[in-house]
Order: sequence, then C-alpha cells, then structure tokens
Amino acid sequence: MSQSVTTQTEQGLYINPEALTAHLPELHYQNNTLHMEQVSITEVVKHYGTPCYVYSKQAILDVYQAYTDSFASLTHQICYAVKANSNLAVLGVLAQAGAGFDIVSRGELMRVLAAGGEATRVVFSGVGKTYSDIEYALNQGIGCFNVESISELTLINEVAAQLDKSAPISLRVNPDVDAKTHPYISTGLKDNKFGIAHEDALVVYQQAAKLSHIDIVGIDCHIGSQLTEVAPFVAALDKVIELVHSLRKAGIELRHIDLGGGLGVRYIDETPVSIDEFANALLPKLSELGLTVFFEPGRSIVANAGVLLTKVDVLKPTEHKNFAIVDAAMNDLIRPALYQAEMAVIPNVLPSNGINTESTEPWDIVGAICETGDFLAKDRLLSLSTGDILAITGAGAYGFTMSSNYNSRPRASEVMVADDRHQLIRKRETVEALYADEVLWQG
Ligand SMILES: *Cc1c(COP(=O)(O)O)cnc(C)c1O
Repeated sequence: MSQSVTTQTEQGLYINPEALTAHLPELHYQNNTLHMEQVSITEVVKHYGTPCYVYSKQAILDVYQAYTDSFASLTHQICYAVKANSNLAVLGVLAQAGAGFDIVSRGELMRVLAAGGEATRVVFSGVGKTYSDIEYALNQGIGCFNVESISELTLINEVAAQLDKSAPISLRVNPDVDAKTHPYISTGLKDNKFGIAHEDALVVYQQAAKLSHIDIVGIDCHIGSQLTEVAPFVAALDKVIELVHSLRKAGIELRHIDLGGGLGVRYIDETPVSIDEFANALLPKLSELGLTVFFEPGRSIVANAGVLLTKVDVLKPTEHKNFAIVDAAMNDLIRPALYQAEMAVIPNVLPSNGINTESTEPWDIVGAICETGDFLAKDRLLSLSTGDILAITGAGAYGFTMSSNYNSRPRASEVMVADDRHQLIRKRETVEALYADEVLWQG
C-alpha cells in the first residue's frame, strides 16, 4: 500500500520523504540516507559542498526514451528545450542519445554545438532574434527557425539573401487556447507576446512563400509550461491541423508539425498526464497528417532528474514563525519566489526513530538574501538542526539556468551521477570571478 505523500495540519505541510521519493526516479533512501542512483548524497556533499545541484544521468535518459518510445509509430524528433537546463553535460548526454534541441538564443546554440549536438536537429524559437543571431544560426546550418512575427520573417529573408542561403522556417502560431497554468508560463493566449495569431497565419504563410530566401518546412506552437492536462494540447493540435489543411488547399506543403513543450511534472502530489497518455491522445490525429512530428520538452525531461542540496546555517524561531536560513537562496532557485512554485524539501538523513508529524515543527526555508521574497518553501513540518543537509527535489529544470549572482553570491556547483559514479559538471563560481570583468572608474 502506498503511503500518502503529504499531510496538511494547522501548523503546516508535512511531506513524507520516503513516500515522495517513491514517485521520483533514481532517488531513494538507503540506510536512512538519501541516494541518487547508487551515489550517497552525503558523499556528494563531502566532495562538492553546498549549495549544489545534482542530476541523475539515467533519469534524464529514461524520460527522453519514454518520449521516443511513445511516439515510435511516427517519424518524430524530440528537441529538448535547452533553457530548462543548459549544462553541457546534460546537453551532451541528450545529444548522444540522438536528441535534437529547441533553443531561444545564439548562446544556447553555441552550447548545443559545444556539447556535440547537430545544428540540423535544432529549432530556433524566441520572439527577439537579431540579425547576428540569424546569421550565426544560418552559418551553422540550423534545422528550422520558429518565426514569431512578420518582421522576423522579413529579417530572416534578408540575412539569408546576404549569405546566399535558403532559411528553413516554421511559423509559430498562437492557437489562443488556455493552458490552465501559471500566468507567467502561459504562452498560447491572444494577449501573450508569443507567436502569430491563428487567424493571421495563412496570410503570413502566403507572404513567406513569396520570399526568395525562405524555405517553408513546418508549423509550430507552444502554449505554456507545467501543463498537467491533455485537453489544452489537443485543442491546440486541432487548431494547428485546421491550418495544415488550409495551407494544403493554398498549395503550401509542410514537412513537419511542432507541438512545442510544456508537459508538466509531479513536484509534490500533482497528477500530470503521463507521456504515454499524452501520446495516446495525440497520436490518432497526428498519424493522419503524414508529417514528421517535433516536440520541444524541457521541464519534463530534467525537472525530476535533479535536486538542489543546501545546508541549514541558522535556525531562527520567532514568536510567529520559525525560519531556517539555508545556504541556497532565491538567486540559486527562483521558482518559489517567481511563480509561487511549491517544491518539496526533504532531509538527507532520516531521523533514526522514524518519521512522524509529532517530532516536527513548522519552518520557512529561506535564503540569506535581503528580500522578503527570498524563500524556498513556507510552513513545512520538518525536524531540523543546524548543519543538516536538505534536498529540494524537482530542481533539475529552471533551477540553475535561472540562477543569478544577486547579493554577489557565486552560483552553485553542478554534479552529475551515473550508477555509482559522480562527477563535477560545473565548478562553483568564485567571488573573484564575479567582478573580474569589472573596471574601476579611471579619473
Ligand atoms: C520553454 C519552451 C519550451 C519548453 O517548455 P517546458 O515546459 O520546459 O517543456 C518549449 N518550446 C518553447 C518555444 C519554449 O519557450
């Protein structure tokens, strides 16, 4: 019988570490100590200190494989969305597995190439591509530009003409469907800045067809992130299919359809659709089309492959609240502050007398930054002592990539584990490096 993961009491939220990890790939307790694959987290902390991001290679590969297996009946390409986690080791593992990539900047393309990825398997999304971004991507042989406006289309044609190349493009259409997710990560509504309105798409495609250095290859949409239901994906697909048919009638033949990313994950006790259910809902409609299918998953591939490890530095009980000040902060992990994201915080070592809500107290897990918004979790029932190591789970996506140096804090180290091996994949920054490029005023 599976234990329930959470208990909400008047005092706060209790998350059962063992029940939680039962739902997380490659994370488990062994001798009361947290392990990722066969590596003890205590060992990782001893080698690399805290705060530290740790990723499981196997967990990443398993989700990637689940996508390719679920869509095996169709010609398809999984383009991992680099912005979720752009560490070279993560990109390299996925490149080796055959993944393509979805990028939103020239910098991300450079990372993909440095990690051994192929430009021909890369799609370039984003609303603000510049002349030099486009030039660089064309020179590298980019697979497709996902075009978000008419002015971008004109610019791509211009750059391609200068280089005497033909630019492969899709239009990113905005299907105007409600992804039912946090407003900051909803992208497929009329009033979002993304894409070309569904009703304008046919005309823009016809314009594109007349441009000398544009090669129309596909159609694209991406409606948001952390979607837990399949209905918005199906609604978006229906709208895109409608367009594919109108385009055919107008004599514009596509080679691929790109449904973006956005599949949600279970952070604590959410119940997102599985990759299989997702595939089963879309496959019948997709197989009729006869087009290659692209997906751009980011979060779902890496979120639960990673944890952020942090040490309890100070315990500060006050009359109204107890604060546990840890050595990670909003600069390391901004999701709770930016999106009100609830992430699980679990101890590295379980109390030997077992776990129960009685031995716990409610804590706000906060960083040392001078902002009230600097919290990682609120009102959590935990049993804490200074020096304890905590793991924030689900931290593999939009964790390190959104981190900053606010308060002159060097960014965390990153580690990858595979089987019983661990390896540093990004050194902890030094404070000196933070100001190495700064210059005193000369005068
Ligand atoms: C962010 C983004 C993705 C990935 O979204 P996830 O929710 O991480 O899967 C895919 N495509 C585009 C265009 C994006 O902006």
